[in-house]
Parts: sequence; C-alpha cells; structure tokens
Amino acid sequence: MTTHEEPVDSVLETIGRTPLVRLQDGPDAVPVYAKLESFNPGASIKDRIGRYMLERMLERGDLPPGGTIIEPTAGNTGIGLAIAAEQLGLDAVFVVPERFSVEKQQLMAALGGEVINTPTDEGMERAIDRAHELAAELDDAAVPQQFSNPLNTEAHYETTAPEIFDALDGRVGAVVAGCGTAGTLMGIARYALERDPDTHIVAVEPEGSVYGDLVGEDRDEGEYKIEGIGTHDTATNELFEPELVDAVDAIADRDAHAELERLAREEGHLVASSAGAASVAAKRVAREIAAGELDVPHETVVTIFPDSSERYLSKGIYRSFEEWAS
Ligand code: PMP
Repeated sequence: MTTHEEPVDSVLETIGRTPLVRLQDGPDAVPVYAKLESFNPGASIKDRIGRYMLERMLERGDLPPGGTIIEPTAGNTGIGLAIAAEQLGLDAVFVVPERFSVEKQQLMAALGGEVINTPTDEGMERAIDRAHELAAELDDAAVPQQFSNPLNTEAHYETTAPEIFDALDGRVGAVVAGCGTAGTLMGIARYALERDPDTHIVAVEPEGSVYGDLVGEDRDEGEYKIEGIGTHDTATNELFEPELVDAVDAIADRDAHAELERLAREEGHLVASSAGAASVAAKRVAREIAAGELDVPHETVVTIFPDSSERYLSKGIYRSFEEWAS
C-alpha cells in the first residue's frame, strides 16, 4: 500500500490511506479495527467522496468546468466537497440544517464555500429540496446529491474498502459502520461480499432513526443527538441496500456518548458521536463472534471512525452528556 511519505502536489492527493488501529478489547471478544478517517485533510471520511464525486462528474460531463456545485449536507460532506471544488476550479454552495455544528459551517466558508441554512425542524429533507431549487436557478450548476449518487458508494468501494482489505490481508469477518447516506457501509459491504458472501454486515443507526424498518425491525421514530448517521425518512436515503445488510443496530445517544468519552480517556481517540455508536456496535459483534453466535469467514471486525470530536467542542461534547444532548 502506498503511504503518505512521498511529497505530493495537491492536498487532494493526501486523501485516503488512513490508519487502521486495533481497539482495546476484552478477553471475550475478537479483534476490532477502526479506520481513523479524521486523518484526511478535511478531517473526515467525506473528503473521499468530495474528491471522487467531483472528478467523476467532471469527467462524465455531468458538471461543466468552472461550474457550481450545490449540496445539502450536515457539514462534513460540505468540507470535503469544498476542498475538492476549490482544487478543481469549481464554485460551491452548501445547504445546511441549522442544528449542525457551527465549526463545520465555519470550515466550509473558510474553504471558499457559501453556506445557506434551513430550519432544523424541517430536517435534511428541506435542505435537499432547497439545493435543487437553487440549482434550477443556475445554468452551470449540479447537485452531487450524496444521498442518491451511486458515486458516493463507489468512492468507498474503490478506496476505503481496498485499503481495509490490504491492511488486514483480506481477513475481514464483519464490517460494522454507521449509516447516514449509507455510502460508506454499502461501498465496503459490496467489496467485502464479493470476496466472501458470508462476511457479516451491520449497519449502525441512532435510536430514533428508522433504517431498521428496511430490514424488518419496527422502529419508533424520534429525536437523537448523534450527528452524521440515521434517517427519519428512508425514502431520502436511496443508497441503502437492505439485501447487503445482516442487521441494523440502534444505539442510544447516552451509550454513544459514554463510549466516545471512554475512547478519548482510555485509547487516545478524539472521535465524535457516530464513532462512539460504531464502536459500541462493533464491540457487540466482536463478543457475538467470540461466543460462537455468528458464523463469519474471519474472526476480525472492522469499523469506521468518521471524524473528530474537535468539530463538536462548541456543542459541549466533552462537558457532560446532558450538556451535549441539550
Ligand atoms: N459520521 C459522520 C460524522 C458523518 O458526517 C457521516 C456522513 N453523514 C457519517 C458518519 C455516515 O457516513 P455515510 O453518509 O457514508 O453513511
């Protein structure tokens, strides 16, 4: 695998090839490895799709050179797209529901993007509609639309997944990852299942999210604080393929928060709530494998830590659960 040791000409070339680190686990579990996506230049996994989607869209003529991209985003995708847009000579506009962290919105603006807010109570659905309305007003604009663009999944199939398999010499028994758009999990799952159809695939969502409905669970829709994963309306998340998934694990805000605090204190990982949720779910799968409850091709679990807690300090992520969740 190539490393980051050679000098490169553009920040885009520093995207990917992130570390894979074994988590500290008890004697009752098989090894869990977490891929640390905060090592990307925009400090999240979304740098991968920012670069991948825009390069492919330009190649295919879906976006004119020098044009404008308009994207509904919780923030990390905006940062990833803003980095790529600037390097590829494009303008960028981001439509962000107000509830998402102010750090992310400031970073999108610092990278040259224009940020437009939509009301929190109208959800991501409203941000998506607004992005399309704005794009219709311009003749050189395109909406990458991470929630429905197959290039999102493909970016992870082409980059994240092979990196994981190379690092572990193909010994991947289970993949456990949070689903926002579901691009991350679907890309890795597709790659893993092509190599071994018995690989165990677990989607992670917050309690209150309804991805579970797609695999026959009966979820109660409700509010949650975990940022970046989950859905209130599965019709919006066109990339999620239920047939690739063995289970959807719903994690409570409180458990994700306790785990992100523990990961910092005990393991030195400055990660946010979606990583906390992924870690709880991955460790659960690791215990099930160790107990002989799951039949997997290899006794190794892989999960993804999508971004860094630094992005949520203004939300009181390390002050207390109550303050963060209020
Ligand atoms: N965690 C965070 C912090 C995110 O921003 C995202 C993207 N929404 C995810 C997890 C989930 O990634 P994906 O959209 O690929 O499912």
